[in-house]
Amino acid sequence: MSVTHSFVYTANPARVLFGAGTLALLSAELERLGVTRPIFVGTRRQEAMLRDLAADVTGPAAQVFAGAVMHTPVTVTETTMSLVVQGGVDGIVALGGGSTIGLGKAIALRTDLPQVVLPTTYAGSEMTPILGETRDGVKTTQSSPKVLPEVVIYDVDLTIGLPPPQSATSGLNAMAHAVEALYARDRNPMTEMMAVEGIRALADALPRIVRAPSDRAARSDALYGAWLCGSCLGAVGMALHHKLCHVLGGSLNLPHAETHAIVLPHALAYNAAAAPEAMSSLGKLFAGDPVMALVELARQLGAPTALRDIGMPHEGIEIATRAALANPYWNPQPLEEDKLRTLIARAWAGDPPARMT
Ligand code: NAD
Repeated sequence: MSVTHSFVYTANPARVLFGAGTLALLSAELERLGVTRPIFVGTRRQEAMLRDLAADVTGPAAQVFAGAVMHTPVTVTETTMSLVVQGGVDGIVALGGGSTIGLGKAIALRTDLPQVVLPTTYAGSEMTPILGETRDGVKTTQSSPKVLPEVVIYDVDLTIGLPPPQSATSGLNAMAHAVEALYARDRNPMTEMMAVEGIRALADALPRIVRAPSDRAARSDALYGAWLCGSCLGAVGMALHHKLCHVLGGSLNLPHAETHAIVLPHALAYNAAAAPEAMSSLGKLFAGDPVMALVELARQLGAPTALRDIGMPHEGIEIATRAALANPYWNPQPLEEDKLRTLIARAWAGDPPARMT
């Protein structure tokens, strides 16, 4: 983007500690925040690690809730809230991916308690003031500075156990934030720098991770890229890609990261003609056609390429088309029903992305 254009950039407050072994800094960070009775939240799959951490930091009586699930159901938050109230909790430690971080944010929204977040995927929620919550099967999203974590501890070692298929889709999920930031209506020189560097770092690191999941240098590069991409998500508005993924996850219950991985090249192809600056930046990064480069990257990573392979029924094409057109996000390319249906149908079938000029 040309800096001769005027712009507004709102920086989200963030204290970020990055490195390998940075988990060891948690106690000092809690002390700095004056937190003595934190609640540790996470998922069932990461419960053992969560309990060990809680016992190390606050002893055997630590408050632990390992029931975080995707899409932050209000019922789960209410169960956690009763532990928060009963235990006189004065802070939140969230260890996990976007599902765990969503639960931590939901508690922070209700209590304004300080949060220390230890991300273990590349989804990027820790860098955004956004919270999506599900009540009676309906997911609604809101933005509030109250849900921004006070401290984010990126410990590369916590990501080493993320299996390669999940690392690949989660990394592509992160890249999607940066790709959409490049054509966001409110883009600015800061988000452009973060987006380009975030995509570069992830595109370089993800194939190395799939080849050697314990490669610490690759894990470090990917987590660094994910931080930058998450910062983009927190700083500018998202467009068609995120709307489609929101709809596909919310209405059809498709898995989050996989959906992002599949839809990204299709959404970029839809917007390509209306986003020449973004295409030019991406073209330089990938040294070629960005749409085909993303297709090739997903193939190289072994990521899924068809929505039907991750559980979307054929009727979902119509459901998603209608839902995407209801309350649409701003998008560089105007949304046209037929073209949108074609995009979704091609993503469903795993056909190559088609430009919509
Ligand atoms: P996730 O948090 O649901 O994690 C998926 C699974 O992987 C879980 O079982 C988890 O325990 C496990 N896991 C996580 N890290 C692991 C690790 N290092 N090793 C082994 N297993 C690990 O997945 P996600 O993609 O990170 O998050 C998706 C959720 O986050 C969605 O609900 C999405 O809407 C939300 N999200 C929100 C924002 C935001 O800004 N509000 C941004 C991105 C994602």
